[in-house]
Amino acid sequence: MEEKIDFERLRKEMVRHQIQGRGITNENVLSAFLRVPREEFVPLEMKNFAYDDCPLPIGFGQTISQPYMVAIMTELAEPEKKDKVLEIGTGSGYQTAILCEIGCVVYSIERIPELAERAKQTLEKLGYDPEIIIGDGTLGYQENSPYKIIIVTAGAPEIPKSLVEQLDENGRIIIPVGDMFSQELIRGIKRKGKLIREFHGGCQFVPLMGKEGWK
Ligand code: SAH
Repeated sequence: MEEKIDFERLRKEMVRHQIQGRGITNENVLSAFLRVPREEFVPLEMKNFAYDDCPLPIGFGQTISQPYMVAIMTELAEPEKKDKVLEIGTGSGYQTAILCEIGCVVYSIERIPELAERAKQTLEKLGYDPEIIIGDGTLGYQENSPYKIIIVTAGAPEIPKSLVEQLDENGRIIIPVGDMFSQELIRGIKRKGKLIREFHGGCQFVPLMGKEGWK
């Protein structure tokens, strides 16, 4: 008989060791991580590894990010309840769920329709209600701008101008910038219309493809 996996215990251990253990303190972030079932966002054959300290394949050459990476990006964004957030790269929908759990109003763009559809179903099943848009996220989503927070979960050659334009005053954009294989995590804060950049260490994301990304 197959052994049943205690996902709740794995989730608590993941938060304690991978997230808190590496210095994440934001209460909104920690409690969201304790509540979102990550095992629902990975393919069936990957469920045993859902709480491992690494990214996992989700099909179409894409990945669900390592838990710590999702945590650090979310902490840098400083999300509060009701904040309007634009996410580029829905992927599995896990980061989307974390933002919804915090109480943000989330718009998330994904360029691969099959991934968008699957994420939508998972999120709906768990009771989250973000707006998932299929399209090129490098151009943002003008209709609902400006955004308090923009989180880009794919690696960009540079910060897309459209995204900076759609960011609110005092808003934050979190984005990995570099080449196709490795990037630096950047937080940009918009002050008097200009973007002030901070650098938060090396990372590795799949490429951000699109008009203002990789061609
Ligand atoms: N936050 C996701 C990360 C998925 S990987 C998760 O944890 O599951 C990054 C995703 O960005 C991929 O699904 C990829 O298809 C998508 N992507 C790449 N370029 C994009 C673009 N221009 N617009 C929207 N999505 C894009």
